[in-house]
Amino acid sequence: MKLICIGRNYTDHIEELENEKPTDPVIFMKPDTAILLKKQPFFIPDFSNEIHHEVEILIKIKKVGKYIDKKFAHKYYDEISLGIDFTARDLQTSLKQKGLPWEKAKAFDGAAVIGNWVSKKEFTNVDDIDFRLEKNEEIVQQGNTKFMLWKIDELIEYVSKYFTLKIGDVIFTGTPAGVGTVKTNDILTGYISDKQFFSIKVK
Ligand code: ZN
Repeated sequence: MKLICIGRNYTDHIEELENEKPTDPVIFMKPDTAILLKKQPFFIPDFSNEIHHEVEILIKIKKVGKYIDKKFAHKYYDEISLGIDFTARDLQTSLKQKGLPWEKAKAFDGAAVIGNWVSKKEFTNVDDIDFRLEKNEEIVQQGNTKFMLWKIDELIEYVSKYFTLKIGDVIFTGTPAGVGTVKTNDILTGYISDKQFFSIKVK
């Protein structure tokens, strides 16, 4: 399975990193080895001094598809979760400056947190889901899927033009503003509305 991640999908986050607003979604991937195993802490890797948390809504693909029209995209996923796209920001910045790919900064072991999955039927509208990340019980990121530049169904349409989607693939739909550094002993807890989806200790 693969993890397909969307960058720059919330205007407020684009502004905080002073990135240009894209005309197409920014896509990158993480391998399955990036998934942080359940109940394991996140270990800060020795190649970075600036690991950022990016909290994101996740969707799990349940049917194989290619060139999926956005009208039918809803048939390709049933489950929603919340996760973290951990990013070695210092490394990403230097790779970006050199025009190199971001993989080392985004796809390293443990860089993908996947929370518990729930049925999308639990939501009246997937384009209006409130979520947040707390660091040591303080809110650091807050978002709602209604502020996505590309909504879930549009992302499925766009991504599936390039990559065949397979059962079990996960799409990370992008982060809102508030990304920030994590340090040893931080506890990161993610919520959709008031339901907890994950809690991670940083080591
Ligand atoms: Zn991200």
